[in-house]
Amino acid sequence: MKRFLLLSIITIAFALSVNAQNYTANSPDGRLKVDINCTGGKVFYSVSLNGKLFVDKSQLGLVTTLGDFSENLTPKDFKTEATAFSYDSKVLKRSHIDVSATRAVLSLYQNNRPAIDVVFMVKNNDLAFKYVAYPQPNPATTTEPFVCTVINNEKSFFNFPDGTTTFLSPQMKGSTGWARTAPSYEKPYFADDKTGKNGEGAGYIFPALFHVPAGWVLVSETGVTSAYCASHITCEGGASYKVAFPMQEDFNGNGTSAPGIPLPGETPWRTITIGETLSPIVETTIPWDFVEPLYAPSKNYTYGAGTWSWIIGFDESVNFQEQKRYIDFTADLGFVSQIVDNWWDTQITRDSIEILAKYAKQKGTSLCLWYNSNGYWNDAPQGPKHIMNNIIKRRKEMAWMKSIGIRGIKVDFLGSDKQQTMQLYEDILADANDFGLEVIFHGATLPRGWERMYPNFIGSEAVLASENLHFGDDFCRQESYNATLHPIIRNSVASMDYGGITFNNYFNSTNDTTMWGGHRVTSDVFQMAVAVLFQCPLNHTALYYNVLPKEQWKLDFVKQCPTLWDDIKFIDGYPGKYLIIARRSGSKWYIAAINAQKEPLKRTLNLDFINGGVTVYADDANLNGSMKQVSPKKNMLQITVPHDGATIIVGNSK
Ligand code: CA
Repeated sequence: MKRFLLLSIITIAFALSVNAQNYTANSPDGRLKVDINCTGGKVFYSVSLNGKLFVDKSQLGLVTTLGDFSENLTPKDFKTEATAFSYDSKVLKRSHIDVSATRAVLSLYQNNRPAIDVVFMVKNNDLAFKYVAYPQPNPATTTEPFVCTVINNEKSFFNFPDGTTTFLSPQMKGSTGWARTAPSYEKPYFADDKTGKNGEGAGYIFPALFHVPAGWVLVSETGVTSAYCASHITCEGGASYKVAFPMQEDFNGNGTSAPGIPLPGETPWRTITIGETLSPIVETTIPWDFVEPLYAPSKNYTYGAGTWSWIIGFDESVNFQEQKRYIDFTADLGFVSQIVDNWWDTQITRDSIEILAKYAKQKGTSLCLWYNSNGYWNDAPQGPKHIMNNIIKRRKEMAWMKSIGIRGIKVDFLGSDKQQTMQLYEDILADANDFGLEVIFHGATLPRGWERMYPNFIGSEAVLASENLHFGDDFCRQESYNATLHPIIRNSVASMDYGGITFNNYFNSTNDTTMWGGHRVTSDVFQMAVAVLFQCPLNHTALYYNVLPKEQWKLDFVKQCPTLWDDIKFIDGYPGKYLIIARRSGSKWYIAAINAQKEPLKRTLNLDFINGGVTVYADDANLNGSMKQVSPKKNMLQITVPHDGATIIVGNSK
């Protein structure tokens, strides 16, 4: 009897070993584990940190025109190796980044030949994975295999444990919205929402934040070029999410939604950042760690703060006199850049732009010019049109811009995640670099590693940005709520051209109710805090020359606040409620605390990374700001932040 039992156990164990193969890839510190399970021809992964489950068993696989590589797969090989390297960047949340990771490659066969590899990069708080696909036999010939394919479906799942809540922004449906310019990543993030929904029917954009019982998970992707489409996620029921391709309706239906690749060829990285606290989420560098610069910068690109007349004065402000006034204002602030927004081609004209560009140069500043992306994919009437979509016209225009000393371009209304649109983004960036132009995108997709990949890329909107403060009071009332989300979610994975920081009470040029324009409810110190909270290396503010604060220290803060940072530290917060983060530039730390809750936020901060006394900018209960010098006792500092107010602490680094 005993012998029979033992034999049964051995038989079962043998059967399991035949049907299931398990592999593990550990992070360099051994705390994060990726468990890979191959069973029944399918491949699954799960992710745990400190023994706690963050991503539940989730399928992997690709379905291509040359075969379904999500099933009937046999694991052939699993290799791991340690990798470590460093890189520097002026424009990211950190200026020097040390990367240490375990690289694991799972080779999967089908019909006794290579089908796909899954390549994992496992860091202490991040996982990135991508697929490599291989040539497949052509039934018509034994010698010449097929060396390209179309990926019809990517079966990369992200399944979360019971009790997970979501912080997601719906994917906008293709060719919908204003002038058919969607998707443009301009839907709100909903905090602590239920799983099991699918946005507005088309899923959710990257990045996607999940609050799992053991902590936090941020899902995104990086390394997207013209060699693939940009993806998003759809909910497949419950807390199960899956990579999804663009809608066929994107780009007015032009181009395919399924990406094509050569063989061997690969997908972009799908990234998962995991933390028991929000620190690893806010501080992650996974969007840039495993991508490379795709070309050399044609010049030494420079950065700083700027102005943007359109956010206050709208289309009417795009005229010669007003732009000249803004050049004076920009120079007075010591800022480096100014965006001349839509309709300049007709309301100012090219000849007068040349005069303004010359004037800006004399005053020590520079201009960025706005362009419509279209084309044949949206109805947006704003000019200049039909230039950025055509290589001949685009390069001629860029040569003109270079000749008159234009700093950069802002291209709007791209409205698609298709591979064809990724080609347009890349072509604009590469051409602009040839002419020494910096590039900002609006009405655009999320940048996926682009700050490092394209050296002249500045940032994208890809968020419900400051224009909505102009459009209405409802969004103004959400300003502090949104600001507690962005540094954790959207701005954590890419530079964000938000266009914030204003002292206007109303987002219009009369600064009252005689003109249309949302009513600001946040404090002046809150506006100053935005300069620390939101990161974009060339940061165009909403400051207006006719509305400046009475207190010189408010303006002085905005004038001297850096736009380039060396380090970041998450201190405390909960997305949608309150946020305290610190950024370091050189030897100075800037700590910004904001509060979107009705009740005041009271915290005692441990400033053990600060040396000596600090300058504290803080609001009282009525949102009246003050500045004072404080010497923290035993490094501890008590703060009270009222609803829609802020506290900023500036001190020297230890
Ligand atoms: Ca927009």
